[in-house]
Amino acid sequence: MGQIVRQLTNCHDCGHAVSVNAGRCPQCGSAEPFGPRVFSPREQRQHRIEARNDRSLAVITLGCGAAGAFYGLLTTSTLFGHVIFGCAYGLVGMIIGVAVAFVINITRGI
Ligand SMILES: [Zn+2]
Repeated sequence: MGQIVRQLTNCHDCGHAVSVNAGRCPQCGSAEPFGPRVFSPREQRQHRIEARNDRSLAVITLGCGAAGAFYGLLTTSTLFGHVIFGCAYGLVGMIIGVAVAFVINITRGI
């Protein structure tokens, strides 16, 4: 006699028995009856790399922006020049910073 294997597990949210093939719990309607998704080590590594890339993008962009703004302040003597050239070179620095951070992030993953 074949044995019928009932593949049931308890819902993560309400504890009601739910089939392992069910997309959602029939009792409480939970969309994740097996609990929150667990990421594989490969996915966790990918997330860490992306988080580090985001951080380096922000740091490099702000750093280049600050350097550009500082250069703009040094190259002018008037208050008007400080404001205009500080902002302009700051913006140029940030644009360069985004490009530099992008290249660093791309080449680091290889
Ligand atoms: Zn449930």
